[in-house]
Amino acid sequence: MADFKHKEIEQLLVRALQAISNSNTILELEDTRVKFIGKNGELTLKQKTIGTLPATERPQFGEEVNKARNAFDSAFQEKTAQLQQQELEAKLNASTVDVTLPGRGMPLGTLHPVTKTRLRLEQIFKSAGFIVASGPEIEDDYHNFEALNIPAHHPARAMQDTFYFADGKLLRTHTSPVQIRVMQSKGAKPPFRLIAPGRVYRCDSDITHTPMFHQIEGLVVDDTTTIANLKATLQNLLQVFFEQPVNIRLRSSYFPFTEPSAEVDMECTACKGSGCRICSNTGWLEILGCGMVHPKVLENCGIDSEKYTGWAFGMGIDRLAMLRYGIPDLRMMFENDLRFLAQF
Ligand SMILES: [Zn+2]
Repeated sequence: MADFKHKEIEQLLVRALQAISNSNTILELEDTRVKFIGKNGELTLKQKTIGTLPATERPQFGEEVNKARNAFDSAFQEKTAQLQQQELEAKLNASTVDVTLPGRGMPLGTLHPVTKTRLRLEQIFKSAGFIVASGPEIEDDYHNFEALNIPAHHPARAMQDTFYFADGKLLRTHTSPVQIRVMQSKGAKPPFRLIAPGRVYRCDSDITHTPMFHQIEGLVVDDTTTIANLKATLQNLLQVFFEQPVNIRLRSSYFPFTEPSAEVDMECTACKGSGCRICSNTGWLEILGCGMVHPKVLENCGIDSEKYTGWAFGMGIDRLAMLRYGIPDLRMMFENDLRFLAQF
């Protein structure tokens, strides 16, 4: 800087460079910039005086002011880059990841008790040679009622009131339409041995009914099977399912699609028949409905009812889950309370 003829500019530049050098943050550096080359900065004001000087002095003075300005600018840029780098590093250091901390983990979900029960039933039936069939939950009147010997105006329809769509379709009231679909499917012929688990719907909602519930139905059709096979199959199923000896009894009943029809009671698993709160002190639990497939249903599916017989049964998966796990209220199943669901 020895070639500065004007001492004041040289001294100004020395102070300015010192101020830049002393700035420890971007903010301080900005103050320094304003102080020297801002609108009213010291160097700016010097530049403005050029015009007031005698013509002989102007070139030399102007040149030195410009030189000082250039020196200031390059020092300022250098310092800016340096401070930005420092601040970035400080930020990175402050937010380091502690790799020694234990992981947060992801809580594992569990299967819903109804799903667990359905899978268990499927496994038991598969091991007995049944196939698992499924069908649509939005059904037509034919498959849900007509083909099952429940024509329009049949009183049984009143007990299975459901939700109807504008085009005449409906939410299926049982999984029986799946049996019809399997028996009517192309190329299908007896013997049949299948179960159909799934969601079904009815216009019911109270302490023991929900508008949506889960059912599992079974169907066997061949040329030798009898009601004795039905009874033995059900007893075996319940014993395997509840993992204990089970007594059952058949009570005569009525369903449009079976003849004869029966309700099946199971000896109460809680009190072994002596009577308790769960079985309303009767010693028995209503567990399912069953019967020999009505000849009309077989004929509707193109099966010779003189040659073949069939039996079918249906039960609530939700009810079996409640009994197996000791769940007191059906509605707990569908409230989605994780404190309840996490127990299974
Ligand atoms: Zn009981």
